[in-house]
Amino acid sequence: MHAPAFDYDAITRDMPEARVKRGENYADKGWVSLVECSTAGVLAHVLGEQGIAYVVEVSAPDAADARCTCKDFADTGLRCKHVVATVRTVLDADPETLDDVADRLRRLLDQLEMEERDDADLLVERARRDPALLRELEGEAAADS
Ligand SMILES: [Zn+2]
Repeated sequence: MHAPAFDYDAITRDMPEARVKRGENYADKGWVSLVECSTAGVLAHVLGEQGIAYVVEVSAPDAADARCTCKDFADTGLRCKHVVATVRTVLDADPETLDDVADRLRRLLDQLEMEERDDADLLVERARRDPALLRELEGEAAADS
């Protein structure tokens, strides 16, 4: 069981409604790729309007510690639509999906080690925060298997 027990009401209470709606819309569109998941929180790559993927980290239960690499968050430090999208996606996911996410980077590491890439640890660590690299590495893994 890896589901972070997010308190959605607490997270969205002080946010402008339009921002919450946009975040929910992102979640509905499937723009959130969950990368890491534990009871402590989640790390995700969230696609933005420009096709840029942002790195989002949210702590459970109330997103007291939340981070996003988007400009909105950099400018204001306030929880952005990507944080909402990430939390919404976790809450809508079934337990099997979250178990799968919890295992995602370990599977990638296994795959890279099988390919005998001696920089496997480093690559996975970089891919956590590099959406393009993660896609590329997992794409290679999928193509090889
Ligand atoms: Zn953001």
